[in-house]
Amino acid sequence: MRFQTKSVHTGVHKDQQYNSVITPIYPSSTFYWDDLEKTSGYDYTRSGNPTRDALQENLAALEGGVGCVATSTGMAAVHCAMSLFGPDDHLVVPADVYGGTFRLISRFLVEKGMTFTFVDMTDLDSVRSAVNSKTRGIWIETPSNPMMKVIDLAAVAQIGEQSGLLTLCDNTFLSPYLQRPFEFGIDVVVHSTTKYINGHSDVVGGAVIAKDEELAERIGWICNAAGMACSPFDAWLVLRGVKTLGCRMEAQERSAHRLAEWLETHPAVERVYYPGLESHPQHALARQQQDGFGAMLSFDVREGRPVAERVCMKTKLFDVGVSLGGIESLISFPVTMSHASMSEEGRAAAGITDRTVRVSVGLEHPDDLIADLQQAFEGS
Ligand SMILES: *Cc1c(COP(=O)(O)O)cnc(C)c1O
Repeated sequence: MRFQTKSVHTGVHKDQQYNSVITPIYPSSTFYWDDLEKTSGYDYTRSGNPTRDALQENLAALEGGVGCVATSTGMAAVHCAMSLFGPDDHLVVPADVYGGTFRLISRFLVEKGMTFTFVDMTDLDSVRSAVNSKTRGIWIETPSNPMMKVIDLAAVAQIGEQSGLLTLCDNTFLSPYLQRPFEFGIDVVVHSTTKYINGHSDVVGGAVIAKDEELAERIGWICNAAGMACSPFDAWLVLRGVKTLGCRMEAQERSAHRLAEWLETHPAVERVYYPGLESHPQHALARQQQDGFGAMLSFDVREGRPVAERVCMKTKLFDVGVSLGGIESLISFPVTMSHASMSEEGRAAAGITDRTVRVSVGLEHPDDLIADLQQAFEGS
């Protein structure tokens, strides 16, 4: 089955009593036993729930993994995956890792005894030289937020394999429709389903997907023991959302590509960061490992912060907001929003300046989005 068919046909036909086409929500905390030895397969919703299982089957199939846990948030998924490691373990992570992941690492996991080295993962030598005798894993995020750096999945997976490390990839920005890290040798895939997978900006959720049975079992154990799983209601919404992932991604990507090309020719714009542009430093790599370029882009305005702020505030169709991957377009100013908690030096190292604007392109007609941005640039 091809992707779109899998996304519609996996995790359905679960209701043998009434044959509902759509998997029902089972909002039951507990399930009665047939006798003192035998359950229906479910006994308690933290440990397992039919609606959540349907979503997990679906996401595992889309990523090409063998097991999945659907968590209450994307950060719960990150925490679940990080819990594969213990005190004294060292991980190599991208310098521009997602802000919430950075907070979990620097203010929580470090206190539990883990150590981390932050590197620019577009430089494979710096990944190699960050590996030491305590290193147990490499965390990847590609494309990165908000500068859209593309990391070579196969090359990093190979570094991991040579040193016996676990490789983990946060695949939120592209979704499995456009990138499947397992195909490049990655061991664990993490998602914030809040973004493209649910796609409708009405749920926060996450998922961890494993490449093999052993990892799937460990992840399932952690999720149950730590109580990270999502509610049946949220699972049902995400399962509804994921069925349109393919066509949403197609349309949103097409619009983002047009917007990126238009922005690149705009006199007020200095630089556009979008992997689909030939000017993107990792354009060839993106072409090779991705099935498309996604619907996130950033750009630097030529004339500085007042223009960046004006563009954000004068658009009418782009809501000013963090988050991404929804049907509605969003615009944000990373310096005061998503990356406000990052140090000035950290931002500078990542290339984020007070002239950088980030856009998540939604499902509106691209002509309307371009006209709206045009009037925002002109507006005074
Ligand atoms: C949003 C996001 C997360 C965290 O997900 P939540 O659902 O907000 O907890 C993790 N990684 C990336 C890349 C994200 O964009």
